[in-house]
Amino acid sequence: MINLAPSEKALVPFVSVENMMKLIHHIGLETMLVGLGDYIESDFRRWELFDKTPRVASHSEKGVIELMPTSDGDVYGVKYVNGHPSNTADGLQTVTAFGLLANVANGYPVLLSEMTLLTALRTAATSAIVARVLAPKDAHVMAMIGNGAQSEFQTLAMKAIVGIDEVRLYDIDPAATAKCAANLAGHGIKVVACDAAEEAMLGAQIVTTCTADKQYATILTDNMVGSGIHINAIGGDCPGKTELAPAILRRAGIFVEYPEQTRIEGEIQQLSADHPVTEIWQVLTGRAKGRTDAKQITLFDSVGFAIEDFSALRYVRDQIKATGLFDPLDLLADPEDPRDLFGMLQRAL
Ligand code: NAD
Repeated sequence: MINLAPSEKALVPFVSVENMMKLIHHIGLETMLVGLGDYIESDFRRWELFDKTPRVASHSEKGVIELMPTSDGDVYGVKYVNGHPSNTADGLQTVTAFGLLANVANGYPVLLSEMTLLTALRTAATSAIVARVLAPKDAHVMAMIGNGAQSEFQTLAMKAIVGIDEVRLYDIDPAATAKCAANLAGHGIKVVACDAAEEAMLGAQIVTTCTADKQYATILTDNMVGSGIHINAIGGDCPGKTELAPAILRRAGIFVEYPEQTRIEGEIQQLSADHPVTEIWQVLTGRAKGRTDAKQITLFDSVGFAIEDFSALRYVRDQIKATGLFDPLDLLADPEDPRDLFGMLQRAL
């Protein structure tokens, strides 16, 4: 007889891909990007409270699998994420992810969630809250280089949070640009498909590089970058995987999430270990200067940090309470006597 007494069990809310899609539509994509940006910014403002470590990476020939843990002392969060640039050729995603929150006081998980969609949203929201403080004040045109899975989210977060009204698309694969342009149609933003990265950058105050190639790539060369531009470099996020010519880095004011991780994974792996960088949380809290003048090139060397995932999971946990968009998951053993795990096993006889 199977008697698992599910009604009495402590069940863990699980947000599936299906429910995450419903949640995003229920809230509205741009509203959710703004909400995620607010949660991320509020957690960046209490940066010093968090347990921080560079992510734990397992590299292989074709990609990387990473664990990204952090805790604010009350809640623990961790994300599992991969990065496999050659996956798309096999019809698979470059990046997939899932994650959980747990109660620090007793270690029990309190939320399990898909994070492939959520990572795209949180990365975009992070890009935009950083661009809001670093990009030129009049920024309204963005060049979007790399038109894959992240690109529409990056564009719409910059629209919702920074106020860009034109995006200029370029990808080495014209099919990716066509896909991105079609997806962005009707979203209240002018979309221009371009045949070269140089063309995409014409008139842009912000350039987002979001390509996937496991090599020291040169998506932007030094001569392509004029004064005053803000570069949001997303795709270089692994040892041996970068997007910008080193000469650009030497001309730019460089802003990072967590230097200990970015020096391993970001564009700055191409520079000496003591090259000065500014931590973005310090800009958000007013402890450090952001853009110093209109001519400065600012670079957000984004690699993605655990606190952004923690904030995103926190946001989802708060939203599913009202919407019920989750499945209760039987994840926790619940013996009547906590020391009698063997006895609990007999319930399934
Ligand atoms: P994707 O594979 O869906 O898209 C990448 C696109 O880049 C493809 O369309 C490809 O044709 C294009 N591309 C490759 N080389 C190019 C070049 N030289 N010039 C122009 N376009 C080029 O990948 P995705 O999910 O959109 O992710 C993009 C990158 O962002 C990946 O490298 C991923 O690891 C990274 N990423 C970073 C963060 C972060 O927090 N910083 C988060 C998520 C993803």
